[in-house]
Amino acid sequence: MFKENRRGEPICLWCLRDLYHDATLFSLFDDRLKLCLDCQMKLTYKKIRFILDGVEVVSFFEYDKHISDLLILYKEHCDEALAPLFFDRVKKQINKEYREHTCIPLPSSSQKVAQRGFHHLHRMIDSLNLEVADVLIKTQDVKQAQLSKEARSHIDLVFEIKKDIDCSFKKVVLIDDVCTTGASLKAAAALISPYCKELCAITFAYHPLWKTKAA
Ligand SMILES: [Zn+2]
Repeated sequence: MFKENRRGEPICLWCLRDLYHDATLFSLFDDRLKLCLDCQMKLTYKKIRFILDGVEVVSFFEYDKHISDLLILYKEHCDEALAPLFFDRVKKQINKEYREHTCIPLPSSSQKVAQRGFHHLHRMIDSLNLEVADVLIKTQDVKQAQLSKEARSHIDLVFEIKKDIDCSFKKVVLIDDVCTTGASLKAAAALISPYCKELCAITFAYHPLWKTKAA
């Protein structure tokens, strides 16, 4: 998906300047290019692996000011065209490493999805070549930041497995946009683990605190 200016020329999905305003000869031949070089430089790729309640989590970008801006533009200002950017750089490695997995995205509340007009995580993973099983629902919309530490440990109360759904898997990869406290992933893992043989997780970005726990 490209954005265009009035002359029909491609523009950067993020800053909306001419896509090639700062291009090098090499980048002109990159057909996956959706961001100008300036904006590509703002995304700091730094893959880490860490263990969360016995579940291996792989995450690709450290959550910083730029990532926060990008996610606000996408999720709060509902700029759906940004969706293919997030996993673009790591698409090949995800498709290879998790080709035998069923991908279960963490749910958003139906209220949020209706407000945005799209499910932000589903659009983010559209470009991946994984089998997706949308089996979780969020029953309440509770902002994690507003919760006490004690309440966050009970966040599983807001996730449920959909009723009347075939929930039996071999390998599952849970997927979320950002791993902040890890509470959402833990809750989803606890719900799904009885229904699969192997379980792991990936997130687009991670809070810097996870660096200290990374292997
Ligand atoms: Zn740009």
